Amino acid sequence: MKTDKLTSAKLVDLIEQNLADLALLTLTKERGYANHDETRKIIQHARNCVADLRYTHVGLSLANLSSIIELIAAEVARATRKFPVWPTDPLHAVGVVGEEFGELQKEVLQLTYEPQKSSKEAVRIEAVQLAAMSIRFLLSLDRYEYQPQPQHTQKEGGES
Ligand SMILES: [Mg+2]
Repeated sequence: MKTDKLTSAKLVDLIEQNLADLALLTLTKERGYANHDETRKIIQHARNCVADLRYTHVGLSLANLSSIIELIAAEVARATRKFPVWPTDPLHAVGVVGEEFGELQKEVLQLTYEPQKSSKEAVRIEAVQLAAMSIRFLLSLDRYEYQPQPQHTQKEGGES
């Protein structure tokens, strides 16, 4: 008999699927029908529990992760309100992400060598902004147009 190696990821997937099935079955057995809103809530709760399991498995707490993700989501919303458009050219888009990386790097560098000029809070703010711009980059993955841009020679005497 062939046995698949049961990795922790597969185990978590199995638990998630079985919890969802169990929620449906229990509601249907109890009442003869399943209330879809309630079923969805139970399944969502099960998913949250399983997500917690995934994170704690690698030593992360969902509570910590959730608060960071909330900060990033709030920054995505703030930035999108302030600048609703996003470059269709992926090189401009990645330039925005790179700018935030540069700002984060500057804060970390200053906190290391000129600590009076920066703070952990400034580092946190820039790290959140970098994550937020990465998410905006991802949100447009299907909208990018990968078009080579005009180029010119730097050879002396060259005209094109
Ligand atoms: Mg910034």
